Amino acid sequence: MSEPLPHGRPADGTGAASSTTAATPAAAATRRPVTGMLHSWDLSTGVDGPGTRFVAFLAGCPLRCLYCHNPDTRHMRDGRRTSADEIVGEAAKYVQFIRAGKGGATISGGEPLLQPLLTGELLHRFTHELGLHTALDTSGFLGDRATDALLADTDLVLLDIKSWDRALYRHLTHQELAPTLDFARRLADLGTEVWIRFVLVPGLTDATENIEGVASFAASLGNITRVDVLPFHKLGAEKWRALGLDFTLADTPTPTADQTAAARAVFAAHGLHAV
Ligand code: SF4
Repeated sequence: MSEPLPHGRPADGTGAASSTTAATPAAAATRRPVTGMLHSWDLSTGVDGPGTRFVAFLAGCPLRCLYCHNPDTRHMRDGRRTSADEIVGEAAKYVQFIRAGKGGATISGGEPLLQPLLTGELLHRFTHELGLHTALDTSGFLGDRATDALLADTDLVLLDIKSWDRALYRHLTHQELAPTLDFARRLADLGTEVWIRFVLVPGLTDATENIEGVASFAASLGNITRVDVLPFHKLGAEKWRALGLDFTLADTPTPTADQTAAARAVFAAHGLHAV
């Protein structure tokens, strides 16, 4: 989800029931398995949360970020219908390895909250069955689809705030900023740990007042333990071409080390741990 490395009946249309609703043995015996559209899964270290992690990339995203390095996860149809049982089973094979790497499991995408039932089921089972630290990697645009129960099973939220300037956010993502800020405030109220992700794009997001806005807001929340300033890159450009999409940032330079350090300094000046 995060770039550039990267709600009743669900919008994912699975019609599947959550195991958390199975209050009795009889109900449990008849419950249907939770399924959804999985793009892929992977193991990573130091990118998708702390330590070594099992990362499930769910298909579908309501944003259209100009710099998305996973444009192949935009649509639900880009995924394969997969059961939570299968995904948890895959993660279970690596539990010892993940524990040795002081990691956990991350639900990413695409946008995981486009499929809130599958996301909630996975977070619940990763933490309660496998005993893993859990992270949710999201733009926050669909934060209102995250139930309190889902968030109770989430140790860490990796939250992309792609711009402070609303018009720029709309230009970058084709969506509105306000739902992300509302979700950030809700996470603060819940005391959920959050890492902010901010992609530094020269000529777009790098204006001092834009970075200052994100930093000031983040510092006001009280639950931000880290800020990842992610230098824009073009590693996904080939995917755009392969999909027949116009990668409009082809001529945008990647930020220099000094530019990235300067952006981190703005966050640090607000008392935030920026890396
Ligand atoms: S389009 Fe979706 S998956 Fe791509 S960067 Fe934006 S939020 Fe992430």
